[in-house]
Amino acid sequence: MLFDIENETLPKDELGALQLKKLSSQLERVYHNVPFYKQKFDEAGIKPEDIHTLDDISRLPFTEKQDLRDNYPYGLFAVPEEHIVRLHASSGTTGKATVVGYTQRDVNGWARLMARSLMAAGARRSDIVHNAYGYGLFTGGLGMHYGTEQLGATIVPISGGGTRRQVMIMKDFGCTVLCSTPSYGLQLYEALQTANISREDLRLRIGIFGAEPWSPSMRRDLENKLGVKAINIYGLSEIMGPGVAIECQTAQDGLHIWEDHFLIEIINPETGEVLPEGEQGELVITTLQKEAQPLIRYRTRDITSINAIPCRCGRTHRRITRIAGRSDDMMIIRGVNVFPSQIENILLECQGTTPHYQLILTREGALDQLEIRIEVGSELFSDKVKQLQQLEMNVKKNIKEFLGVTAKVKLVEPFSIERGEGKTKRICDLRTT
Ligand SMILES: [Zn+2]
Repeated sequence: MLFDIENETLPKDELGALQLKKLSSQLERVYHNVPFYKQKFDEAGIKPEDIHTLDDISRLPFTEKQDLRDNYPYGLFAVPEEHIVRLHASSGTTGKATVVGYTQRDVNGWARLMARSLMAAGARRSDIVHNAYGYGLFTGGLGMHYGTEQLGATIVPISGGGTRRQVMIMKDFGCTVLCSTPSYGLQLYEALQTANISREDLRLRIGIFGAEPWSPSMRRDLENKLGVKAINIYGLSEIMGPGVAIECQTAQDGLHIWEDHFLIEIINPETGEVLPEGEQGELVITTLQKEAQPLIRYRTRDITSINAIPCRCGRTHRRITRIAGRSDDMMIIRGVNVFPSQIENILLECQGTTPHYQLILTREGALDQLEIRIEVGSELFSDKVKQLQQLEMNVKKNIKEFLGVTAKVKLVEPFSIERGEGKTKRICDLRTT
């Protein structure tokens, strides 16, 4: 079932024509209403009317997260303040928060895209949605909330935290859809075990996980433990919030990105050059419909690739492969590019380890050292020294084999690595440049 069948199944040429029409009006608007863009376009010697095809967009300058910070808080708004009905802000873990504004039309459009996304994930009006995304300035909670209501399903606005209470409510309310970060999903599973609640006691059938990169092995883990079909959702507050892209339940293979609202490119993060369809690089998004804060060629820092193969669900919007990591999270260890999610994949294949781990980077002399601290399941962490040594060797061997880097492996007691309620901080980089 499709929420917006006409737009979700637009033939490629019609979708392209629609994108170009929307792009032209979006460029006109930002050029005349946002001094930042006027200056940037003028510096690049380009006017909105010089853009005749979708490919011409590569002539325009990028927008970076730093630009949002430099224009904090409202400098990139394209409408007068009285037209703004909502403000959100990103977490600002690596600097000043970035602010995002919405007009009423933006909020409505977001709710419709979220409803589309929920239905693509397999949710229906009859579902009860346990929304463990944080409510507040973070877009996750309210984005999912309005989308669920737009779909006509029931929302349980539980937000993050209070894990013990969460599992009780999930069971008592008969929740059928869980929305959370994947790491919080696993934390909920641990709380279910502690509370002696089995997956059969729950009515969960779908898990919608996002806001941090996760691997196929983590998907299997979540599906087995929670008894759900685990669906990957993607979004970022600068562009809108959750619901920019989502996997369909039919194929569960790559995330349909709503191309009638977003124009996408993949670039080489080092050079900024646009890469051919199918190649892996950084995702760049231009919003086509936003009123309050349109962004042109926004560098997401997320590493992915475009899959243009038609999907059997019937949606014509292309898919992006699951996010492999962030271009600024990418670790370069002795010249090798490594993403935390690749390490996670390997750990999940090793029997006895848990998905809770931390990566510590140090430098000894001129050489980078990677230490991986992994929690071991309680059944193993007793006095079975031989088994633990064997496990340590296995992890080391697999890391070397699959990633080509040598790592120190340290197994630690169950629950000794801090649990994050939201995005988990996995990397601790102690190298000084
Ligand atoms: Zn599909």
